[in-house]
Amino acid sequence: MSYEFVNGKDKKDSWYSAIQQSFKGENRMAVKVKKENCIACKACVDVCPVDAITMGSDVAVINEETCIDCGTCVDECPNDAITL
Ligand code: SF4
Ligand code: SF4
Repeated sequence: MSYEFVNGKDKKDSWYSAIQQSFKGENRMAVKVKKENCIACKACVDVCPVDAITMGSDVAVINEETCIDCGTCVDECPNDAITL
């Protein structure tokens, strides 16, 4: 099975891209990092299934274009720094 997204930024021929694109609708939730709560432990970076999180100088940064709003990082964060 293959997918083509001619008008999308990520024109990839894969199911992975299809799943990401399916979460780009108006009803998607925004994952946010509370900077004051982040202790830069990197736990969220390790568990994100689509590698949407990187570490800034002292806070986790979520790439909203890559994030599929799965909530895994919210559950993993030891300091309640991430919200959906
Ligand atoms: S919600 Fe899921 S996809 Fe988005 S940053 Fe967190 S773990 Fe990654
Ligand atoms: S798991 Fe929470 S505290 Fe750790 S880096 Fe990610 S957002 Fe920061």
